Amino acid sequence: MMLPTHALMGLAIAAPLVVVAPDLASAALVGAFAGGLLPDLDLYAGHRRTLHYPTLYTIAAVPVAIATALFLTPWLVALTFLFLGAALHCRMDRYGGGLELRPWEGTSDRAVYDHVRSRWRAPKRWVRYDGAPEDLLLAILVGLPLLVVLEEPFQWLVGVALVVGGLYGLLRRRLANIAPVVFGSVPESVNEYVPNRYKQN
Ligand SMILES: [Zn+2]
Repeated sequence: MMLPTHALMGLAIAAPLVVVAPDLASAALVGAFAGGLLPDLDLYAGHRRTLHYPTLYTIAAVPVAIATALFLTPWLVALTFLFLGAALHCRMDRYGGGLELRPWEGTSDRAVYDHVRSRWRAPKRWVRYDGAPEDLLLAILVGLPLLVVLEEPFQWLVGVALVVGGLYGLLRRRLANIAPVVFGSVPESVNEYVPNRYKQN
């Protein structure tokens, strides 16, 4: 799924705190938002492997959540939701498409790397590819209630995520055609950092 959907899902798991524990809601929202984005920082270095830990983020969340329940500090709340957001992100990647330039072709059997079992998990393709119409629909279904429930500045994050997601959804297939042209013409020194899937034709 695309990054805006991950970000919105992150915000969504922290949103109940707006009602349950308003004092800690901002910390939870910041943590969950960052957690939703964090795994995809590996986009250019071992994507869906280097920072994607489907099991370990969940395991890491447990002791931190226990410490949070005991001490209830904003930092611990943020950290708990960071792990929860990252864990949810990795799980969502499993239900999306594979790791390839044109994931709608469905030729890749790599959704997300499972470090515990030392192998790639296959994509389930409930959302066929990042930026697919159903991906955008999911972002809207999660984002619109958040626009109502959250206040500034989180409302802005939701708005930006929806706009970026909408544009990405519109351009997704065209971007796949542009990528090999753009990345094919970069200097050799830069080229070695470009993931192979962007060089396919
Ligand atoms: Zn990811």
